[in-house]
Amino acid sequence: MRRLFLTLGAAALAVAATPDAAPNAAWASPSAGTETTSAVRQSGQARHAMVAAANPLATSVGVEVLRAGGSAVDAAVAIQAVLGLVEPQSSGLGGGAFMVYYDAKTRKVTAYDGREKAPMGATERLFIDDEGKPLPFFDAVLGGVSTGVPGAVAMLDMAHRDHGHLPWANLFEPARKLAEEGFIVSPRLAGMIALKQVPQPSAPDAKRYFTKPDGTPYGAGDRLRNPAYARTLQRIARYGASGLLTGPVAQDIVDRVREGPRPGTLTLADLAAYRPTSGPALCRPYRIYIVCTPQAPSGGPGLQIALGILGRTDIARRDAGDEKAWFEFAQASRLAYADRDRYVGDPAFVDVPIEGLLAPEYLRRRADLIGDKAGPVTFGLPRGAPRSGPDATAEPGGTSHMVIVDAQGNVVSMTTTVESIFGSGRMVDGFFLNNQLTDFSFSPTDRDGTPAANAPAPGKRPRSSMAPAIVLTPEGRFVAAAGSPGGSSIQAYNLKALVAVLDWEMSPQEAAALPNLVAKGDQFTADPFPEAIMRGLAARGMSLLTARGEASGIQAIVARNGRYEGGADPRREGRARGF
Ligand code: GLU
Repeated sequence: MRRLFLTLGAAALAVAATPDAAPNAAWASPSAGTETTSAVRQSGQARHAMVAAANPLATSVGVEVLRAGGSAVDAAVAIQAVLGLVEPQSSGLGGGAFMVYYDAKTRKVTAYDGREKAPMGATERLFIDDEGKPLPFFDAVLGGVSTGVPGAVAMLDMAHRDHGHLPWANLFEPARKLAEEGFIVSPRLAGMIALKQVPQPSAPDAKRYFTKPDGTPYGAGDRLRNPAYARTLQRIARYGASGLLTGPVAQDIVDRVREGPRPGTLTLADLAAYRPTSGPALCRPYRIYIVCTPQAPSGGPGLQIALGILGRTDIARRDAGDEKAWFEFAQASRLAYADRDRYVGDPAFVDVPIEGLLAPEYLRRRADLIGDKAGPVTFGLPRGAPRSGPDATAEPGGTSHMVIVDAQGNVVSMTTTVESIFGSGRMVDGFFLNNQLTDFSFSPTDRDGTPAANAPAPGKRPRSSMAPAIVLTPEGRFVAAAGSPGGSSIQAYNLKALVAVLDWEMSPQEAAALPNLVAKGDQFTADPFPEAIMRGLAARGMSLLTARGEASGIQAIVARNGRYEGGADPRREGRARGF
């Protein structure tokens, strides 16, 4: 039954076409589009160490670093440097990230926060125009006003000081060489360059970078050199995060952000003042496991709420072919989205009632609302709930997820992003500037003036959906790690991956390939599901909108039977490999 279901799901996936999935379809076609083919290409098994990343070049570099005796964090640094070059639509030096790190010796999970911050000159009216109305979304994205202080490199620098084995400078060599000599443009990147549904690929900086001397755009199979990126990597290799956040590169970032249209206020002082954070991860029980994610303002709390609700259902006794299982999944998602939208923001600025939201009796009450039919869903009133207004945050998708296990058993699960495809479309020194500040709620207050938890403020971090996860046994042994890009749908993608791996005992590749169902408010968007499930859900008031398909990019590794199994989402170009 399960096998049959997977085959149907995969066939359906092949026809999915969102703006983001379109280039993927082009990539998938040469493989003849069967699930077996893509599963073989993307999954892997290993005894000692493993990498699952969103691009084959990045995976190879990560494996090389691990073979050379590098730690999981070393590999993450090298992989990020490569991804910023070969997958610039998703993440890079100009972006931010969240990472959870499992230390095999102490069995502790640490959360690293490299989320972008708003400049000190930002106000709550960051995205409000002269007439008092929220800016059209892409006007905001393309402006300097959308760029926050980039945090990914500073976060990796911090994690490397804590857990690096190899010298920092060496980790940039593979990417520097690729940038210098040129890399082969992948079908997915080519698809993004040609994309017309979003304005960034046609923005002047992107256009310049992606146009060949003969005036045509770079396509799949072309070799693209980026000497400016190589030079920036050399500075970072030499000076650490200061090579990016101070000196000439910082000046270039500030100059570009302060150009019109819609210039931002970013200053050298904003960049120099940036500090990533580290601290205990947010860890909560899920059935017989412990799931660890980053804290707010990441997507960790939302994912934990959804798991907390689902853990109080019988979904683990059901399977992926059972319509009731998907109903429970969707209801738990809706309830969790309602609470995270209402309550989650940067905890340095707003009270996030995290203990109340994750209290067993509160989760029990929320789980009791699942019922048999999809009625209206609203946020709850957990203990410690502040008065906060409705949220008006929009999140389209760029972003990348990686999972790494090193030979000592240390684990990195990291989601990294420039926010939208090619971020703001603006480039300096070979990399794209993020548009992360559009992850704030554009309207800072509701009609009666109640502030939104995710309203912009100077120095504040916008709320994220990114929720890299690591799963342990109660004794602290590593079980699994997973995560995905996908904007606000990340919560649903990660939830599916975890339920599939933990409850339905699927391999990470099967889990990644399984159709997605994203239930938010009264919207049920999804990959095509088998007819019987679609009919069953419709009878419960959930009509799935499947026309666009889903653009998840799950990467996952599971420890099973004394070895590691890895999986990479067949909707994108990822690979899992190890030794
Ligand atoms: N900017 C989003 C976030 O931090 C991620 C966007 C994406 O996944 O594409 O939640």
